[in-house]
Amino acid sequence: MTEHKKPFGHDHHQGHGHGRGEGGFNQKVAGHPHGHGHPGGHPHATIKEAFHQMKDGPDAKGQAHQYMMNRQNQLRLVFWETTAGCNLECAHCRRIDVASTLMKNDLTFEQSCRMIDGLLEAGKPILVLSGGEPLFRPDIFDIAKYATGKGLTVALATNGTLVTPEVAQKVKDSGIQRVSISLDGLGETHDKLRKLPGSYDMAIRGFKELQKVGMPVQINCTIARHNVHQVKEIYQNAIDLGAVALHIFMLVPVGCGVTIAEDQMLDPQVYEDVLSWFYEVSKEKKIETKATCAPHYFRIMRQKAKEEGIQITPQTHGMAAMTKGCLAGSAICFISHKGEVFPCGYLPVEAGNIHKEKFKDIWESSTVFANLRNPDALKGKCGICEYKKVCEGCRARAYYEKNGDYMEEEPYCIYEPVKMAGRNAQGA
Ligand code: SF4
Ligand code: SF4
Repeated sequence: MTEHKKPFGHDHHQGHGHGRGEGGFNQKVAGHPHGHGHPGGHPHATIKEAFHQMKDGPDAKGQAHQYMMNRQNQLRLVFWETTAGCNLECAHCRRIDVASTLMKNDLTFEQSCRMIDGLLEAGKPILVLSGGEPLFRPDIFDIAKYATGKGLTVALATNGTLVTPEVAQKVKDSGIQRVSISLDGLGETHDKLRKLPGSYDMAIRGFKELQKVGMPVQINCTIARHNVHQVKEIYQNAIDLGAVALHIFMLVPVGCGVTIAEDQMLDPQVYEDVLSWFYEVSKEKKIETKATCAPHYFRIMRQKAKEEGIQITPQTHGMAAMTKGCLAGSAICFISHKGEVFPCGYLPVEAGNIHKEKFKDIWESSTVFANLRNPDALKGKCGICEYKKVCEGCRARAYYEKNGDYMEEEPYCIYEPVKMAGRNAQGA
């Protein structure tokens, strides 16, 4: 199977803040009905199930490590761009061709069901219904019911603005187990990015309607220059709202994002500071927290734990002890609205297309996935970094900064690996 470099800039998922790359749902959805099996090693255990199976066991640390390393490359999370259509045109959306109607290439209901059957041949991942705006699809609840009926755990990633009381009830009735809503700043900061005055209030209204019907709702927030000054308030706001989780995403320069990247990308040192702060507040355990598409968070976590003299176990660090930085192509993937399969929604290197091949074959045999599953193939400082197996750096940021070479070093990490420091010292 060949890998195809796609011309950048259109027809790839990003959906910043909703339904995006690695673990927008932390591979964890409340109330999964299949919580049993072998600790850490069950081929279909979600991270939450595995966590509960192992957390009080005598070898929780070892089992957490095994789960994290995922040596069999079990498929754990699939983001599916249910439609390219959306009711908003956010400044940082991965899509250039956002449509205000459904796109003609969107998978039909029948194709969607076949796609879901195909996923089941490869594993039992959590399926995240993303977009565009998934609530734009009139048959979204039929699709959700089909997937949940087949035993998949299904989550919904939405901008929240289309959630009325009726829609909230339908979400609940369809078997969806968690919803994420994107809030990219407070009030006007969010509205400005969404290019729609009042969209913050609309999203909050949607959030509350979902809460009323008993849906666990998490907040996804893309951190960039426009809102980094609000990061503490964003955290407090998530707690005050009663969100089940706050996932912060670090901007990846992709899609329309490319045009704003220069202005909006955080300086690597600021990036480091935000992740360090996030590690500290995560210890408060006031809300589930996750730094997503910020792989070096897992390096920072280890550095800090070492300084604190504590071991990283599921008891001390929760599910963060069981996952690692970039999971693109090794535990997660993204399926576009027209059936293309990518490692994640930000890395525009196509692994295959479900219209042409079985998903299982793509997952098991694509060259791009094989590359991403091999940390020894990493280049630059990531290649010599002692944290590479728990971090791997963001392959998408490497792609954009290094002329399409997604195995190159992560450009937004300030860390100097020990081997590099040694080389520098020798050269000095
Ligand atoms: S390549 Fe980057 S954006 Fe994609 S999953 Fe990895 S860390 Fe996230
Ligand atoms: S150098 Fe690369 S692998 Fe090491 S911590 Fe930084 S991003 Fe991660």
